[in-house]
Amino acid sequence: MSKPLSPAVAALADQGIRWVAITWVNHAGAPLVKVVPLAAFDGAVAVGVGFSPVSDAFRADGAIDPAHRLARPDGDLRLRADAGALALLEPASGWAWAPGERFERTGEPYAGDQRHRCRLQQQQLQQAGVELRAGFELEWLVASAHSDGEPQPALPGGPYGADRLVDGLDYASALLDALEAAGIPWLQFHPEYGAGQFELSLAPGTALEAADRLVHARLVIQRVTRRFGWHFGWRCSFSPKPSLERVGNGGHLHLSVQRAGQPLLQGGAGPGGLSDAGAGVVAALLAELPALLALACPLEISYRRLAPGSWSAPFQVWGIENREAALRLIPTAADGVPAHLELKVVDLAANPYLLLAAVQAVVLAGLEQTRPLPPPVSGDPAQLPAGAALRLPASLAEASSAFAASALLRQAFGDALHASLLDSQAAEVRRCAGLSDAELAAADAWWPLVGGLG
Ligand code: GLU
Ligand code: MG
Repeated sequence: MSKPLSPAVAALADQGIRWVAITWVNHAGAPLVKVVPLAAFDGAVAVGVGFSPVSDAFRADGAIDPAHRLARPDGDLRLRADAGALALLEPASGWAWAPGERFERTGEPYAGDQRHRCRLQQQQLQQAGVELRAGFELEWLVASAHSDGEPQPALPGGPYGADRLVDGLDYASALLDALEAAGIPWLQFHPEYGAGQFELSLAPGTALEAADRLVHARLVIQRVTRRFGWHFGWRCSFSPKPSLERVGNGGHLHLSVQRAGQPLLQGGAGPGGLSDAGAGVVAALLAELPALLALACPLEISYRRLAPGSWSAPFQVWGIENREAALRLIPTAADGVPAHLELKVVDLAANPYLLLAAVQAVVLAGLEQTRPLPPPVSGDPAQLPAGAALRLPASLAEASSAFAASALLRQAFGDALHASLLDSQAAEVRRCAGLSDAELAAADAWWPLVGGLG
């Protein structure tokens, strides 16, 4: 007799769900997957499905970098699905989805697992009585491939244009329907500034929920774009810079912090109403930004997006409601919406688990040991006298050096994970060495669909 299904799985079976896609996100920022029949899901939670540790040596284009310390044929891990995060993917077709974490065959958590690291940092914050809430904004380009391979925006209409919305209203309806069918809470959807570009803001949650939601939503957006636009050859691109001529795609991260139920980014005497503790959080994030950039902007093409004047905020400054500041404080106001921070540099090639693991470690450090916060910058930092606003790293190699030198992030990740991330960063630098900007943009134009399109 087969084992009875757990109640959650039995409920999904009653809904017609037949398969579960279990994902994790590798060092290169790509979600990797194994699919199990629904009846085997409880086993995938308890025991897991096999994954070789080499998957973290995959470059952004899927090739294995031979110099990476994980580029070895040995060893095996088990990806265990998180039953608590089991969700629908495309219920009408029988699909569910769950994020997973990798374990050693001994049953110990794998020290290099990205989601596990995010979970550990979340626990540390909780133990310190701190609650962090996070939410991502996703920007993407809907395009068809021109004969020269260049993405051609698929929908007409101007920035934030209601004309673009109604021209693509069937696409918008299909997308919002699918997000709701998958149970993904979202706040806002709009046509973005760039031609053929859209944006979705996801509802905030814990760090793990925010990262899971990003992975989940991106899969649904890819699926709907492909299905809806099949006849027109549409795909979506989450590349930080699908084309050098147009604005890039960001993945801005919104954060708020509470301690003992008190919001820390408001109610104080500091600039923008920051409390002393809140100022400590902003100061720590600001100081660690160059190192965080290696995780927030992990592709070489990420650095072509980070140009002044494109609201991608490439200066190491903070500002109050300043969209050219890498850290933007949105203070509370008459509407009563709690104050929060927006980390604008982030793009969607970032592994959200690693990024949020690092951000949580920095937030905790900022609360434990406050350092002085420089004054906020208003206006465009690019217009300030030379040297007044530090430019953030302009290449992955530069950001990776800052990551290598960050004692805080080394300690937060542990030596093994920190070192293997450095190998991945070096692999990306090697992959892109010698490519012109145009070649680089073309190579990654359809990220994360990079390998296998010829
Ligand atoms: N597309 C811009 C970026 O690359 C962001 C525009 C906005 O502020 O929403 O981040
Ligand atoms: Mg936007």
